[in-house]
Amino acid sequence: MGLFDRIKKAFSAEPEKETPVEQDQAIPETPVESDATPVESQTPAETAAAEKTETDEPASLATEDDSETVSPLDTPTAAPVNSEPEPEPEPEPEPEPEPEPEPEPEPEPEPVEASAVTEESDAIEEVPETEAVTGDMQAAETKKYDDGLEKSRLTFGQRLNALFANFRSVDEAFFDDVEEMLIEADVGYETAMKIADELRDEVKLRNVKKPEAVSQAIVEKLVDLYGQEGQAEDNQLHFAPQGELTVFLFVGVNGAGKTTSIGKFAHQLEKAGKKVLLAAGDTFRAGAIEQLQEWGRRDNVPVVASAAGSDPASVVYDAVKRAKEEQFDILLVDTAGRLQNNVNLMKELEKVKRIITREVPAAPQEVLLVLDATTGQNALVQAKQFKQTTDVTGIVLTKLDGSAKGGIVLAVRTELHLPVKMVGLGEQMNDLQLFDPNRFVYGLFKDIIVGDGPQKTTDTDVSQAIK
Ligand code: GDP
Repeated sequence: MGLFDRIKKAFSAEPEKETPVEQDQAIPETPVESDATPVESQTPAETAAAEKTETDEPASLATEDDSETVSPLDTPTAAPVNSEPEPEPEPEPEPEPEPEPEPEPEPEPEPVEASAVTEESDAIEEVPETEAVTGDMQAAETKKYDDGLEKSRLTFGQRLNALFANFRSVDEAFFDDVEEMLIEADVGYETAMKIADELRDEVKLRNVKKPEAVSQAIVEKLVDLYGQEGQAEDNQLHFAPQGELTVFLFVGVNGAGKTTSIGKFAHQLEKAGKKVLLAAGDTFRAGAIEQLQEWGRRDNVPVVASAAGSDPASVVYDAVKRAKEEQFDILLVDTAGRLQNNVNLMKELEKVKRIITREVPAAPQEVLLVLDATTGQNALVQAKQFKQTTDVTGIVLTKLDGSAKGGIVLAVRTELHLPVKMVGLGEQMNDLQLFDPNRFVYGLFKDIIVGDGPQKTTDTDVSQAIK
């Protein structure tokens, strides 16, 4: 079954039994240090009781083989791109618009935390009304994708309408228009050509004539191609084993959303009980240092910074040293992103990375390239440049909410072969989400895939996933 059919099945409106709590990936709870929000710990009796209540493992998306690096943030996604879908959709309660928290960390733990399996002990915490709660959260998270991708979805729909506005017959001129339409939708040149070619065959084979059927065939091909290309893709974030320092390096051009993404991510990690440290490695702009420090204040996490103009490698060295000495769980490193001096920038990133690895051999666990989705094909060009010189492990695709260029995610996969790991779907803290390819595809094409069916998949809200 192609991805199109799997998503259609997963999101279509069949009532079904309640889904088990979908937290298959262990997210080890970290002892909370003095500067983090207190998190209740479990008594051995509670742990034992919880072990008895362990629910079925959901269909897991975890396709990677390196159990060593399984992420505490791993998102249990219901229907992986390259595996069979979740058994059935679930009747969801009306998705409540999720109240967005202010930057201040919230005192009370996330409800889903109670259902998480601890990676090492395999114990589950007590489960309070989890199924309904989880359903609500899933719906809310799907809604985030829906809302965040609305512009892209509407624009794509308009492009399809425009394509068929002058539609007379399926001839060569029509296929040229299809190619053009897809290129404008930022799905990538190669993808556009491939889809148009396949459509030619399909139309002949099936004698498809009606515009709706052709629309459906276009989207089906796009989605299935996306599914095929993603077979070996690893969309999970990788963390060090519990008790060891994880370092994530954020790279990308100025304005892409690095600092904001770090700020949002740190907030969510801190809320989940992780001890987080930030490093202001963009020392070229005083404003960038201040911006990160401001995030540190909001998130209640410390920031290692130095004066503007100082050596970024030395800031990062200080940060790694402090993180090790004070046993932080995660260090998030901001970096400069000037394009005007590309060679120096890349050299500098290399140096920063070398220092991290010298101090913590397994780090950085992720080098995340932050791309602004509103820049469309430019983002791809930037990514190609970064990829040539830096070992990028994944993409953070930001500002999708403000963009009609959500189709870029197809081009990132088919042309760059880099996994998207997080997406920025809005300005709020929790709008930075772990990437769920199926929700994304659904958000992008849902009108054509199933219409407005009930929403269903798993938790991609970072704060829900962190334990
Ligand atoms: P940096 O130079 O790469 O560190 O970029 P910044 O983090 O300073 O972000 C540049 C601008 O993009 C800021 O105004 C952010 O508020 C905005 N921004 C970043 N991510 C998102 C997102 O996912 N959605 C929206 N709407 N704005 C974003």
